[in-house]
Amino acid sequence: MILDIRTLSFVNVIVAMVLGIAMIFIYTTRRTYSGFRLWLAASACHVLGFLLLSARDFISDFLTIIVANLLIYAYFQLLLVGIRRFWDVPPRKGEVLAEFLAMLVVLVYATYLAPNANLRIVLVSILLTLPIARTAFLLFTRIQPDYRAINTALGILFSSFALMMAGRAVITFFTPSITNFFDPSPMQAVTFISTFAVTILWTISLFSLHTKRLELEGINTQKELRRMVVTDGLTGVYNNRYFYEMGHMMALHARRYNEPLSVIIFDIDFFKAINDTYGHQAGDRVLIQVAAVCRRVLRDADVLCRLGGDEFGILLPQTSLEGSQAVAERLRSAIAMEDFLEPQIPLYITISMGVSITAPGEEDVEAAMKRADTALYEVKHGPRNQVKILPPQDMKALPVDQSAGAEIKPETPVQQ
Ligand code: GH3
Ligand code: MG
Repeated sequence: MILDIRTLSFVNVIVAMVLGIAMIFIYTTRRTYSGFRLWLAASACHVLGFLLLSARDFISDFLTIIVANLLIYAYFQLLLVGIRRFWDVPPRKGEVLAEFLAMLVVLVYATYLAPNANLRIVLVSILLTLPIARTAFLLFTRIQPDYRAINTALGILFSSFALMMAGRAVITFFTPSITNFFDPSPMQAVTFISTFAVTILWTISLFSLHTKRLELEGINTQKELRRMVVTDGLTGVYNNRYFYEMGHMMALHARRYNEPLSVIIFDIDFFKAINDTYGHQAGDRVLIQVAAVCRRVLRDADVLCRLGGDEFGILLPQTSLEGSQAVAERLRSAIAMEDFLEPQIPLYITISMGVSITAPGEEDVEAAMKRADTALYEVKHGPRNQVKILPPQDMKALPVDQSAGAEIKPETPVQQ
């Protein structure tokens, strides 16, 4: 079978045009990322470059050799620059300019000064290999787990193409002198067929890259929304909603495995006075610092929430009343010893705390919360800065904490 090279060159024009139209369609109807416009420009260079190439012998050599080859070089270089942009890799303008000038010199020299089709094909193939090989290298080195499959596939595609292009240079070097660029030759057929094959595969992968990024962005947005819904905007700890959601889940788990689940509620003493004396913003800073002290004292597994105003709640899984009382005491004294510098003026505060535990059969923390609240209320009506425990009625049936006391690991920040 003899494949006509001019026809293959023209097929490149058609393929590049169809894919270019598909890309314009995507660009105008969907969200695209950095680099996409460069790929559109690459597509345009591909169409024009091969259109001029196909017109060899009909119009001037300047257009069909010099301009056409520069456009084809621009096609591969723009693909690379687009990928760099997509991955936020800084462009290498000097390198591009140097190669472009080298291409121009080679073309002018081997076309006008010392006309030699072999030399021209060899040098042009070598210069084209550079951006293609660099594209492959960039794709292989962008090791991002989420994109690994697409990048590896593209990396293999471009490295094979670079090898083919380098092979073309070598084979042409040893080929008897070429008189007509469009003379049927297996080498030229492979070059033109692989160019449009790469273009098709590359465009499909480009769409996959974009879809993947869109997908990941959607997932991240959902995660961020979820984080915002369950986080207290001021202190960064969990909020009231999360406290009850998590409390319900932990209570179900504790009941299922017959484990203790403790609850601590605390409230800053005379917080209004802090606001009144130092201002609302100072009050805010105190709330933030209180949350930070709690994170320092609590375990990773404990869930710290701001229930509202100056009131905080803590869920302590697998923790007995004795254990949670010890945590509460530790927290109370940590807060009492903390200097809430308001600026330059030492400021000390205290907190009052109520502690309880879920009773067997309780599927929620509501009842334990009520008991802890009652305990807190009692402290607030006596001398503040105390921890008060209010166990459920039926103390005997309470699950036993196997590691009572041992679970308290101060200085471990809570992961929020
Ligand atoms: P007590 O010892 O009885 O707890 O007295 P208290 O002054 O702390 O009184 P209470 O806990 O009832 O008042 C909480 C105050 O916290 C009331 C409100 O003005 C203030 N507050 C609520 N939310 C915020 C906030 O986000 N920032 C600041 N700065 N203040 C808040
Ligand atoms: Mg208070």
